[in-house]
Amino acid sequence: MLEIKNLYGGVEGKTILNGINLSIKPGEMHAIMGRNGSGKSTLSNIITGRDGYMVTKGDVLFNGESILDWSPEARALAGIFMSFQYPVVIPGVNNTYFLKAALNAKRKNAGKKELDAVGFLKLIKEKLKEVDMDPKYLQRAVNDGFSGGEKKRNEILQMLTLEPKLAILDETDSGLDIDALKIVADGVNRYRNSNRSFLVITHYQRLLNYIEPDFVHVLIDGKFVKSGGKELALELEEKGYNWLE
Ligand code: ADP
Ligand code: MG
Repeated sequence: MLEIKNLYGGVEGKTILNGINLSIKPGEMHAIMGRNGSGKSTLSNIITGRDGYMVTKGDVLFNGESILDWSPEARALAGIFMSFQYPVVIPGVNNTYFLKAALNAKRKNAGKKELDAVGFLKLIKEKLKEVDMDPKYLQRAVNDGFSGGEKKRNEILQMLTLEPKLAILDETDSGLDIDALKIVADGVNRYRNSNRSFLVITHYQRLLNYIEPDFVHVLIDGKFVKSGGKELALELEEKGYNWLE
């Protein structure tokens, strides 16, 4: 589904990624772990096509096609989703309106009928239950005045609503207390199936107690220095990152 080949790139003229190779097949859950500043968010921003990020070498393929020239919108419509490490507040834009517009853009692109207000409300109420969110959050502006944990739940609500093929979760666990972490992990686990893939980014082992990755990759200075199974995450928790440098 996702193929990253010898990728070099960064932001604002600074090279941060130094030759990333990664292959994610449908149904797989990959975790990237690494200290702060190792380039985890840079990698997610480059996959999703965020403005200002550049690629100097290598390629990113999604279902066999290079997406580096695609706009962020085109990547989202194709099924790539990212939950931000720092979710954006959009004052004045109602959360329901935002989710409905995003979902309908995807439906339209897929040749499906757009949902009307009643149809959407029915769908969103089911999704809210899955992340244990009060419907009152729908009436507020996107993430406006939301606590750290509420913002992260709202990101997962977006994921469950938009049903992406590839979900990139950038430090979704940060800012969550243990109960919220379990709810978010349950949401992700229920959402797993053989056609969907995940790239879960975290610098704590904690999240991976609840979301079991098939593969764990360790990022240091923009390069994967080690990959393994879920036991690698436990090893990192115990030994830190220094032994890998
Ligand atoms: P991580 O997500 O692993 O903590 P990042 O990808 O956010 O790491 O950052 C990697 C490096 O790139 C850090 O040294 C960071 O300071 C730098 N960096 C990130 N964004 C910018 C930016 N907009 N301008 C300059 N440097 C940046
Ligand atoms: Mg980051």
